[in-house]
Amino acid sequence: MHDHRKLGRELDLFDTDPLMGAGLPYWLPDGAIVRHTLEEYVREAERAAGYRHVYSPVLGKRDLYEISGHWDHYREDMFPPMDLGAEQVVLRPSLCPHHALIYRSRSHSYRELPLRIAELGGMYRAELSGVLGGLTRVRAIHLNDAHIFCTLEQAVEEARAALALIARAYADLGIRASRYRLSLPGEGGKYVADPRLWRRATALLREVLDSSGIDGSGIDYEAAEGEAAFYGPKIDVQITDPAGRESTLSTVQIDFHQPERFDLHYIGPDGAKHRPVMVHRSVIGSVERAVAHLLEEHGGAFPTWLAPVQLAVLPIAQAQEERAHEVVRRAVARGLRAEVSGPGDGTLGARVRAARLVPYQAVIGDREADAGLAAVRLRDGRRPGAVPVAELLERIAARAADRGAELWPAA
Ligand SMILES: [Zn+2]
Repeated sequence: MHDHRKLGRELDLFDTDPLMGAGLPYWLPDGAIVRHTLEEYVREAERAAGYRHVYSPVLGKRDLYEISGHWDHYREDMFPPMDLGAEQVVLRPSLCPHHALIYRSRSHSYRELPLRIAELGGMYRAELSGVLGGLTRVRAIHLNDAHIFCTLEQAVEEARAALALIARAYADLGIRASRYRLSLPGEGGKYVADPRLWRRATALLREVLDSSGIDGSGIDYEAAEGEAAFYGPKIDVQITDPAGRESTLSTVQIDFHQPERFDLHYIGPDGAKHRPVMVHRSVIGSVERAVAHLLEEHGGAFPTWLAPVQLAVLPIAQAQEERAHEVVRRAVARGLRAEVSGPGDGTLGARVRAARLVPYQAVIGDREADAGLAAVRLRDGRRPGAVPVAELLERIAARAADRGAELWPAA
């Protein structure tokens, strides 16, 4: 059974330092490569789906969260406010209020809708130190977030498209949803009170779930009370770790509350002001939780396109070391991530074992060096044999580009 905290340390991906503080992990170079590649993947998928990216600050005035309702309904999860002259500023508990202000900063015609604003940004949660650990319970969270401002008529289609984006990402990442959950409010004052808006949003989310899936015939889900956001119901895409613990990775929400609170509007075809609907969605959730889950799901053997090192080049003896470095230079020039592990790092057997999570290994002896070949070994144990270096690099680049799982498809 894989524990992402143990793997993260063994593979030099991330760590924590008591002086930085509990729940505030830092990312080492190999971990940063995985995170960066994941972030670029999401941004590109969003760009292709019509999202526009923004940046907004991780702090906001306390007044902002009073308007959004976080101050009343979510304060115990927030960091205490900081006094700054006559003002108080707060580390933000979510990106929604900032995106609402960005929308409100310009006037919008119905012709611009749906307007999809995306940001992979930081947010903060004052978790108690007793529950912190690894990447799954952290105080600084980097969320793949977006808010779609649209008409009521567009909301179901936008939420459905977000679910499709999530399904596509899970396929590319080699992970799967364990179940879909429709999260509804429970008892208590945690939720904003407006039964009419709750009912309307819940009905729309049921419509989304009932018309999603491969052929639009609906996806199975379970309703759960007490799991909604304070301002509205949501669809949670659940994942299960190897110990059987379930958590939420991705979410889709239809929200009538924030547009009211921030008095958002667009100009309709009738020339009058109308209230937009806000669809909140996250495709891969936070990068912290996503990488933790990827680590545990794959046991550290990331899909080729995400692997910190995609090709390990292993010269048998010192005589082939220069040749090995040349292979790495060619791989890097092609945009691949490759490293030499030479005789100074141990016996060939030890180096093969050390690189066991690297998808491709190229062993170079005298015969290969002279002929421009590499003896290929795959992470799954197969040995396709000696192939021209150019062909090997071509195959790795193709795999990284199409994100396929098969390391060595038949030519
Ligand atoms: Zn939001």
